Amino acid sequence: MSEIGFKYSILASGSSGNSFYLETPKKKILVDAGLSGKKITSLLSEINRKPEDLDAILITHEHSDHIHGVGVLARKYGMDLYANEKTWQAMENSKYLGKVNSSQKHIFEMGKTKTFGDIDIESFGVSHDAVAPQFYRFMKDDKSFVMLTDTGYVSDRMAGIVENADGYLIESNHDVEILRAGSYAWRLKQRILSDFGHLSNEDGAEAMIRAMGNRTKKIYLGHLSKENNIKELAHMTMVNQLAQADLGVGVDFKVYDTSPDTATPLTEI
Ligand SMILES: [Zn+2]
Ligand SMILES: [Zn+2]
Repeated sequence: MSEIGFKYSILASGSSGNSFYLETPKKKILVDAGLSGKKITSLLSEINRKPEDLDAILITHEHSDHIHGVGVLARKYGMDLYANEKTWQAMENSKYLGKVNSSQKHIFEMGKTKTFGDIDIESFGVSHDAVAPQFYRFMKDDKSFVMLTDTGYVSDRMAGIVENADGYLIESNHDVEILRAGSYAWRLKQRILSDFGHLSNEDGAEAMIRAMGNRTKKIYLGHLSKENNIKELAHMTMVNQLAQADLGVGVDFKVYDTSPDTATPLTEI
């Protein structure tokens, strides 16, 4: 009997570093490695996995909270790396990647679907202050999971692409009031609040109301800011807004937290 679906763990999510693990019977893949190689290795060990077993790392964009450990892991373990052309250029000009063997570098263009063994992965562009940021929808045997963080807003086009997935990792970056009142410089506040910044707790909830459907069972809140958010507030905002929209929160689907430094349990979709 062949296994249906796939397994995943959000190894870490937050402004201090992001990494997502995905596994099928044929492939073991990371999306982003925005923490040190050592930390990624210890996060993988929390779910009894090893970096040497990874087939590939998919990269969303060149910000350090997404690529910090990519170069170290690639040099040590030799897995394939995928990013779009512009992101490759930006990474090669940044201090984080270091030298990577050209045979490990692969292109995954925005708006394309690629097959990795037994899973299809679709990339889609987001609105964020990186050269060509893209996130992913994973699809196997009628099951799908969407990652959507690091975007200033969710366009109708994006909402359509990510429609009715079984699970979501959705951005809940900041509480607008905490951000406004906080100590960040005005320019940085403007950047986060802009269309090229990050989704607030309310924005994330609104995006889910537009995108989720009758298949949706799990919503994970991701990329929380340490400075400008509170886990309980992000959770409450999502739950309350979904309930107000008459969606069966806690019944038809559940809302889960993620952590900046602890992996979520390896879960079958
Ligand atoms: Zn970013
Ligand atoms: Zn980020």
